[in-house]
Amino acid sequence: MAKRPKKDKYDVIVVGSGMGGLGAAVFLAQEGYSVLVVERHNRAGGYAHSFRRKKYTFDSAVRIVAGAKEEGLLYELLKKAGLGDKLDFQRIDEIFSVYYPDQNFTVPRTTQGLVETYSRIFPHEKENIRRLVSEMEKLYIATMELLQSRDPMKMLSNETIMRYRTMTFHDMVASFIKDPKAVYAFSALWVYYGTPPTKGSAMFFAYALMSYFKEDIYYLKGSFQNLADAFVDRVHELGGEVCLRNEVKRIEVEGKRVKGVHLSTGEYVEAPIVVCNGDLTKMMHELVGEEFFSARYKKRIARLSYSISAFEVFLGVDYPLEELDLAHETFLYTDYNYDEFFNKHQNLKELGVDGISGIGITTPTLVDKTLAPEGKHTSVITTLVPYDIGTDWKDVKDQYQDKLINMAEAVIPNLSKHIDFVESGSPTTMERYTNNSNGAIYGWEQNMQQMTARPQHETPIEGLYLSGQWTDAGGGVVSVLLSSYKLLEKLTKTKVGV
Ligand SMILES: Cc1cc2nc3c(=O)[nH]c(=O)nc-3n(C[C@H](O)[C@H](O)[C@H](O)COP(=O)(O)OP(=O)(O)OC[C@H]3O[C@@H](n4cnc5c(N)ncnc54)[C@H](O)[C@@H]3O)c2cc1C
Repeated sequence: MAKRPKKDKYDVIVVGSGMGGLGAAVFLAQEGYSVLVVERHNRAGGYAHSFRRKKYTFDSAVRIVAGAKEEGLLYELLKKAGLGDKLDFQRIDEIFSVYYPDQNFTVPRTTQGLVETYSRIFPHEKENIRRLVSEMEKLYIATMELLQSRDPMKMLSNETIMRYRTMTFHDMVASFIKDPKAVYAFSALWVYYGTPPTKGSAMFFAYALMSYFKEDIYYLKGSFQNLADAFVDRVHELGGEVCLRNEVKRIEVEGKRVKGVHLSTGEYVEAPIVVCNGDLTKMMHELVGEEFFSARYKKRIARLSYSISAFEVFLGVDYPLEELDLAHETFLYTDYNYDEFFNKHQNLKELGVDGISGIGITTPTLVDKTLAPEGKHTSVITTLVPYDIGTDWKDVKDQYQDKLINMAEAVIPNLSKHIDFVESGSPTTMERYTNNSNGAIYGWEQNMQQMTARPQHETPIEGLYLSGQWTDAGGGVVSVLLSSYKLLEKLTKTKVGV
C-alpha cells in the first residue's frame, strides 16, 4: 500500500529515493530542514535497490563501489551522513578478470598490482605502463584536490590537469603505450563507464580507474539495498519521512517559483524547496511542464545525449564458482577494439544478438555467501545495449538471455546445465523501475563533451534543484552521493568541502 505523508507542508520534498535523493534528504535533514522523500517503487535505492527470488538476493544494478573505508571519498561522505562505520563493506582483493580470445588475466588491487599484471602480459611495454600509471596517479590526485576545493582556479594552476583536460583517455594511454593491443587491453574496465575511452575524457577515466586502485573496491554485505536502507533509517532518525509506493505526479510552480508537489495518492504537499532525483527530461516535460523553462535551457538539455542502457541476466546456480578463475567482476570480450564493440552495440537493431561483443559476469557470492542458499551462487551477466532495437524488448528477451548465457560458458563451462533460477532485465525493465529515460545506466552519457556541459543543481525555477546522476558530478553511487553533498553546499551557501 502506498505510504502517505503525515503533514501537508515540509521544508524540502525530494522526488525519488535513489542514492542522490537519499543523500540530499539526509544532508538537509542534518541541517534542520524537515524533509519528505517520495518514491514510486516499493523499495528505496533506485538503481541501488536489490530484489529477492527463490532465496537468492540480486542487486538490480550496482556491483561495486570504491573508497568505502579509510581515506576513500565514499567513506568521507558516509561519515558526513552519520553512517561512517555502520555498514559491512567487504573489500575485494581483485579488481577484475578479463578474457580475450587469446589470453586471460586478473588484475589485483594496488597500483603495483596493476603495473605488474600489464607488464607481465605486455613485457615490451613495461616502462611505458609504469610511466602511464604514474601519470594517472598524478591526475587522480589533482582531480581529487579539485573536487575537494571546488575552486576552478585550481584547475588553471595544475599542470597535470592542464595537460590532459582536453584529451580523451584513449589518446592519453596511446601517448605512452605503443602496442595497439596493449592500449585496448589497458582499458578493459571501460564498459563500467558506458562509453569507450575514445569518447571519454582522460581526467574522468584516470580518476575513476585510479580510485579503484588507490581507494580499493568494495561489495556491501547483504547487497547495496543495505546502503539505501541505512540512508532511509537515517532520514527517519532525523525526523524526516520516506513515502514508498507513492509518486510525484506533478510539481506545482507559480510564476518562477516552486510551490509543492501533487502525489499519486491525491495529496498536495507544499515545500519551498523541491529536489528532483529522477530523470531531468521527464521532470521538465511531465512533472513541471515545458512552458516553465526558457527556450535556452530546453535547447541546452535537448542537446545532451543519454548514456547507453544494459541487458542483465540474473542467475541462481548450483555450480562451485569458487573453483573457477573468476573475480567478483569478470569481463569477456570477443575482440580488443572497444570502438568496434561500442559501434556494434549501438547497432544491435541491425545486427541482432550476433553483434554482442562482450559481457561482464558478476559473482557477488564469492565475497558474500549470504546472497544464495548454501552451496549455491548468484551470478549476473550484463552487456551494454541500446534502448531501441527496432522491436519490443519482451519479444527478444529470451534470445538475448540465451546468447549471454551461451557466451558466459566460455568462462563458466556448462553454465546452462546448472541454472536453478533465471530472470532477465532489459532497458525497459530499468526504465520501469527507475523512470530513467531509455533505461540510461548513468544519466547523461559520460563522454568528453558532456563532462563540462552537465546541468547544474539549480534549475531555472526558483527552489527546484537536482541531485543525482542527471546533474553534477555524474553517474555511479559515489558521484551521486557527492552530488547530494554539493547540493547541500549550494543551499547553505557555505564551503563545506568533503
Ligand atoms: C546495470 C548497472 C550497473 C551499475 N553498476 C554500478 C556500480 O557497480 N557502481 C556504481 O557506483 N554505479 C553503478 N551503476 C550506476 C549507478 O547505479 C547509478 O548511477 C546511481 O545509482 C544513480 O543514482 P540516482 O540517485 O541518480 O538515481 P536512480 O538510482 O535512478 O534513482 C532515481 C529514483 O527516483 C525515483 N523516481 C523517479 N521519478 C519519480 C517520481 N515522479 N516520483 C517518485 N519517485 C520517482 C525512481 O523510482 C528511482 O528510485 C550501475 C547502473 C546500472 C544500470
